[in-house]
Amino acid sequence: MSCVISETHPGVEVVPQAVTHSFFCSLLQLTGVLDDCFCDVESIDVFNNFKIYPRIKKLTERDYFRYYKVNLKRPCPFWPDDGHCAIKDCHVEPCPESKVPVGIKSGNYNKYSQAANTMSDMTECEQANELGAINSTLSNQSKEAFADWARHDDAQDHFCELDDETSPDAEYVDLLLNPERFTGYKGPSAWRVWNSIYEENCFKPRSVYRPLNPLAPSRGESKGFYNWLEGLCLEKRVFYRLISGLHSSINIHLCAEYLLDEGWGRSVWGPNVQEFRQRFDTAETKGEGTRRLKNLYFLYLIELRALYKVAPYFERAIVNLYTGNSQEDGETKELLLQIFNEIKAFPMHFDEKSMFAGHKMEAKTLKEEFRLHFKNISRIMDCVGCSKCRLWGKLQTQGLGTALKVLFSEKEIKNLPEHSPSKGFQLTRQEIVALLNGFGR
Ligand SMILES: Cc1cc2nc3c(=O)[nH]c(=O)nc-3n(C[C@H](O)[C@H](O)[C@H](O)COP(=O)(O)OP(=O)(O)OC[C@H]3O[C@@H](n4cnc5c(N)ncnc54)[C@H](O)[C@@H]3O)c2cc1C
Repeated sequence: MSCVISETHPGVEVVPQAVTHSFFCSLLQLTGVLDDCFCDVESIDVFNNFKIYPRIKKLTERDYFRYYKVNLKRPCPFWPDDGHCAIKDCHVEPCPESKVPVGIKSGNYNKYSQAANTMSDMTECEQANELGAINSTLSNQSKEAFADWARHDDAQDHFCELDDETSPDAEYVDLLLNPERFTGYKGPSAWRVWNSIYEENCFKPRSVYRPLNPLAPSRGESKGFYNWLEGLCLEKRVFYRLISGLHSSINIHLCAEYLLDEGWGRSVWGPNVQEFRQRFDTAETKGEGTRRLKNLYFLYLIELRALYKVAPYFERAIVNLYTGNSQEDGETKELLLQIFNEIKAFPMHFDEKSMFAGHKMEAKTLKEEFRLHFKNISRIMDCVGCSKCRLWGKLQTQGLGTALKVLFSEKEIKNLPEHSPSKGFQLTRQEIVALLNGFGR
């Protein structure tokens, strides 16, 4: 959770200071054990700040992870669009195709089609364009398996509504050049999105008001809300805490890279402690801030657990983080495997076994409900009226959706064949990029 600010762009000055979330949290002396798991804030801080974050930062700077294909023009499916906001800092600069590494832009493994078997007449260059991410050393058997893989992928139960990567509106974005930070997006448009996420998608009856909700007639009453929350089964409580953790992450990032000064053609970005206090200080938030920060740690643990579970998928030699540059690809994979090794050594993982463990039929229904609620949240991201916020909102929900997909695919991941793609479990490049970048946040 540390966020070291280091990017430089023309006309933009960044306060040359290492800013960490734990620095913010230490302002509020956040300590102690987290609810619904056996882990404490201090252990996570040490583990993350020394072992994980420096490596994740390096990983997300590599080509495979910095280009994310996204459709920021999809209409809001729930209410008429607010119209895209005109705030300058909401602008997202798409990446010209010529800048995207050839291996990435020509598609990924599961876009493989039968056409590849009939390509013998093509020039090498044409083949590279068609096959794109497919490693040229693959056997025919593997190629066939990829075709199966693609079919399976279309039918797989996703936790997120995925953007259609073939839509002309889907564009590559260089995440390093479009960092998540303060944009000035706020007020009724932003509240409507948050409100609809919590009200309609967190299993909550309308009669229970969320604490301090600016859209609630009574501004929300915390006692009733927490009585309701505590009465829920673990799964539904977890759902609320994940969403609240995501909300905290977004709001912390806007405090950590705030627009501090602007004028004479240059902008100064840096941490805004005052803004952070207003959102998270116990006194300023009637105790809500501490809960919200703990939910962020909880979200971290869930994503960490998903990475632990998905490690065997990536450890197979057949999985190649392909950009077309074999040296770069080898180093990227090595770095990812180092991260998995650190994660395996962490002793306080969240135990997801207690989730969906009840009666078989009940557990199945609940899991499906969970999936559909989360999918709906990913659709609400198309209602965010600020492109930069929409980009990072979509990426982080897709990252969390991918983490949930991993957590509920334990059996399939265990049974992965070593030398061929599996029919039971598969991740697209977009999901991998979202999972690691989301965790990096
Ligand atoms: C998907 C999305 C992405 C965004 N990305 C950005 C961005 O990149 N940069 C940027 O500057 N702005 C971004 N915003 C806007 C930002 O999140 C806030 O909405 C905005 O700054 C206004 O803040 P606020 O203080 O009015 O409360 P909001 O954050 O809008 O929250 C509304 C209400 O929800 C409750 N609440 C707040 N935090 C939590 C929590 N963690 N858990 C539970 N309840 C909570 C409080 O009652 C609060 O009044 C984004 C908004 C959305 C919906």
